[in-house]
Amino acid sequence: MLPPVFRFAPSPNGFLHLGHAYSALLNSELARRGGGRFLLRVEDIDATRCRAEFEAAIYEDLGWLGVAWETPVRRQSDHLADYRGALDRLAALGLLYPSFESRAQIVALVKARETDGYWPRDPDGAPLYPGTAKSLSVVERERRLRSGAPYALRLDMDAACGLAGDLTWTERGSGPGGETGEIVARPKAWGDVILARKDTPTSYHLSVVIDDALQGVTEVVRGQDLFRSTAVHRLLQAVLGLPQPVYRHHDLIRDGAGKKLSKSSEATGLRELRARGITAEEIRRLIGLP
Ligand code: GLU
Repeated sequence: MLPPVFRFAPSPNGFLHLGHAYSALLNSELARRGGGRFLLRVEDIDATRCRAEFEAAIYEDLGWLGVAWETPVRRQSDHLADYRGALDRLAALGLLYPSFESRAQIVALVKARETDGYWPRDPDGAPLYPGTAKSLSVVERERRLRSGAPYALRLDMDAACGLAGDLTWTERGSGPGGETGEIVARPKAWGDVILARKDTPTSYHLSVVIDDALQGVTEVVRGQDLFRSTAVHRLLQAVLGLPQPVYRHHDLIRDGAGKKLSKSSEATGLRELRARGITAEEIRRLIGLP
């Protein structure tokens, strides 16, 4: 039997904090215990927020923590052709359409549709896209694409769910409501998600699914904040014919006020803690790892 494959996949858009330390150490510990492999992946598709300085800091901070990963590290921005290929497959299945509205236009469209202040929101609280661009004629779509207008490529959620049928995933950790075991995936809760934009031929959802498959990841261990996104990932795996890993969503490390840690909070940043003389051993104890 092949060894299990784990990965830690940070985005270099800020410095790592205690929450990242927990996730990275847990992944590497589970890999060690299970005789598996541990990979590091740099999720840097958001060119406006990701910086080389933060990527260098990821290597430095993880090295200091005592985490060892396989090289070469997969950096998403080096593999845009893989994501383009997946988009082509989705387009051939008739599951993609371009939408041309700006964020402000979408807000206005949603407002016009709100009845008594109600319009469905996705699990992150954003209003669902009303699907308006789906009804553009082929001619009009082509005209707008040729005009060079910015656009987002969206997944036709109803069509994708129709193709995939009912889906579940295996959860070895738990969701925010304690959900565990075989979980029913509810991707429709996210609406017609964006899978790419004119200038970025991928998105978090698409690249995470493609990379996990290409890297042979068998166990996805990550924070509970991504539990609900897993439904979209399962759907993409199903329509693209990719293997499904098992998932283990872990509790988030919170600050003293019970809030999720952010990359801009200095109090819990690994470099700040290191500068204050805290050792890697003490970090492990602080986040409750042996
Ligand atoms: N890049 C994502 C983040 O930094 C994590 C993605 C994942 O583990 O699936 O939040």
